[in-house]
Amino acid sequence: MPEEHTEIKIGIVGCGGRMGQTLIGAVLDQAGARLSGGTERHDSPLIGQTIRHPATGVETDLNITGDAEALFTASDVVIDFTCPTATVLHSGFATKHNTVHIAGTTGMTMADEDALRDAAKTVPVVYASNFSLGVNLLFYLTQKAASLLDEDFDIEILEMHHRHKVDAPSGTALGLGQQAARGRGVDLKEVADRGRDGITGARKRGDIGFAVLRGGNVAGEHTVSFNADDERIELTHKAGNRAIFARGAVKAALWATGRKAGLYDMFDVLGLPKE
Ligand code: NAD
Repeated sequence: MPEEHTEIKIGIVGCGGRMGQTLIGAVLDQAGARLSGGTERHDSPLIGQTIRHPATGVETDLNITGDAEALFTASDVVIDFTCPTATVLHSGFATKHNTVHIAGTTGMTMADEDALRDAAKTVPVVYASNFSLGVNLLFYLTQKAASLLDEDFDIEILEMHHRHKVDAPSGTALGLGQQAARGRGVDLKEVADRGRDGITGARKRGDIGFAVLRGGNVAGEHTVSFNADDERIELTHKAGNRAIFARGAVKAALWATGRKAGLYDMFDVLGLPKE
């Protein structure tokens, strides 16, 4: 772990991706942090290219490599917004090289998440479906509202993302579902209604419904609505751009460095109450 007053070395896996690029900018702009490198897939045409600040174009003295293990060795923390198979592989490197792992990849199965839980026995791991301050506050408010409103209020979760997103519903929408279910004291698996098409029959009391929209370059919008007869409460978050996730991930990286091993989330990083 770094000594006092030394910069924290942060590496970015998948640095050519939409989030990867935003993260490069966030790390380069962060006081007290130093970019230790960036990787891409072995077959990526980006390998060998110089890493630049995505906004200013200013060059670093680092090239994009395909060697994730070397990046984990050279870093105090690695931030990972890639894909589930890559994140599972990376979590093994985090354990092997005692590197803090900040994982933002969504679409992870329970088995994929087991890899993060295993790594968290050895190193600090921060894993969150959404790294923004606003969405984590929305998580909290959703749980609170669900705990105060009974099943007369049908809960529906609506999300919209850009046309390139590959998983649905979004990890954040599922996280909101978890919070709503927790507030109600039920298991989301038992009450989630994730796809409606054709003659679905009437809505089941107590279900938590999900609806998904895709299009354009929308960074992420989520609404949780509580629908009773004659009244509706809606809690909404709209992400302006990906910088909010990158800022949260860098904040998590600084927060987790030097902490004891464990699986943390953004509630821990932001100090939000867990009830
Ligand atoms: P993207 O497809 O633009 O970027 C992913 C990048 O990872 C690509 O450049 C890809 O080549 C690279 N990659 C894949 N396998 C790799 C490997 N083995 N080694 C190195 N690089 C590898 O996708 P994106 O929009 O940047 O999103 C990435 C992930 O982050 C998705 O799962 C998305 O849902 C998630 N995400 C999470 C949050 C959050 O706050 N938790 C916010 C936004 C996006």
